[in-house]
Amino acid sequence: MTQCSAEQKDFKADDERLCVRHRMSRIKHKILVLSGKGGVGKSTVAVNLAVSLALAGRKVGLLDVDIHGPSVPKILNLEDKKPVSLAEAIEPIAVMDNLSAMSVGFFLPDPDSPVIWRGPMKYQMIKQFLKDVEWSDLDYLIVDAPPGTGDEPLSVAQLIGDADGAVIVTTPQQVAVTDVRKCISFCRQLNLPILGVIENMSGFVCPKCGERVDIFKSGGGENMALEMNVAFLGRIPIDPQIVDACDSGHPYVKAYKDSKAAGCFAEAIRPILELEKPNTKTDLKGRATMRFAIPLHDGKLCLHFGHCDLFAVIDTENGTITGRTDMTPPPHEPGVLPKWLHEQGVNVILAGGMGQRAQQLFVQNAIDVVVGAPVDTPENLVTAYHNQTLQTGANTCDH
Ligand code: ADP
Repeated sequence: MTQCSAEQKDFKADDERLCVRHRMSRIKHKILVLSGKGGVGKSTVAVNLAVSLALAGRKVGLLDVDIHGPSVPKILNLEDKKPVSLAEAIEPIAVMDNLSAMSVGFFLPDPDSPVIWRGPMKYQMIKQFLKDVEWSDLDYLIVDAPPGTGDEPLSVAQLIGDADGAVIVTTPQQVAVTDVRKCISFCRQLNLPILGVIENMSGFVCPKCGERVDIFKSGGGENMALEMNVAFLGRIPIDPQIVDACDSGHPYVKAYKDSKAAGCFAEAIRPILELEKPNTKTDLKGRATMRFAIPLHDGKLCLHFGHCDLFAVIDTENGTITGRTDMTPPPHEPGVLPKWLHEQGVNVILAGGMGQRAQQLFVQNAIDVVVGAPVDTPENLVTAYHNQTLQTGANTCDH
């Protein structure tokens, strides 16, 4: 076998990345399903989102690259299927007329024995999958990514390059919620928009009396989503029929389309379907037209908002900046700024730090408060807010 020179290797790697991009260019929308850790129902959510989109009439592909625990073949009863290799490509397996799936699970030797992957092999496997699966034209590709925030989901996100966004799955317990915070920061570092968080296994609906019991204390995911300024896509209850459906390979939302959980999935795909509308980028509350205020110091965000003598007021329409006016606030006195900014029509203040009392006053004046924003230009901050990539840290000025 001839050895590649370092230059040839680089060329080959670039070539392969280009092949991935070319393959992906035939897909209108690419969505990554992520979770901070395993076992929270990421694959279950990925499968049911894909089936819900297919039931809504879209042409969908489901790609399972969870190399340590590929469960899509089991959930869709495809374990006996063997993907067909064409010249340079692998054909995905048809699940419905308009839904096909591919999983690394089809290529692992034995589903019961663990596969020990060396780092570069994982990357190669993921790359090969993205490069070689012949999806042809799709409306959506739903990617069941490896859990966590390590090299594997990173490779997936980087190789796809221009994914439309991520859906993050968590369960309500504190420990899962803590992991999901890392997941949100991971997306923000990669500039990967976050479509929202789904809280899975959120309460148990008694099949006999219909009463809902919060076994793990629900709402942790929703509170965290609010706090971190990402959309909350809904709660999927613990439902024994989901386990049955997963174990028997019948897509849950198709088999139990009138169930409460199927209704939750139907709701959760709404922001995904919104991606189809050109130029409609609303904020988390569905507002298309917004006005932001940013306290300024030397042209950038001022960490001490109460003492700044200039505010940038930025208007946006469908997520795009349409104008900026710099305004001088009235002389400093307690409570004056929230009222004044409300009078200027401001909906959101992006601040470095702010005390609790001031935050309450803004909320009373119908202004959302984002604290912990970094020192940056107002335009960069507002753009990051709309892309849901705004990195917020500590509340730096609590007085
Ligand atoms: P992950 O991909 O995060 O590792 P899975 O999707 O494989 O998790 O789900 C793990 C297990 O939990 C599976 O047995 C699945 O059937 C079950 N499960 C997932 N979501 C629910 C739910 N809402 N109600 C009941 N069981 C669920």
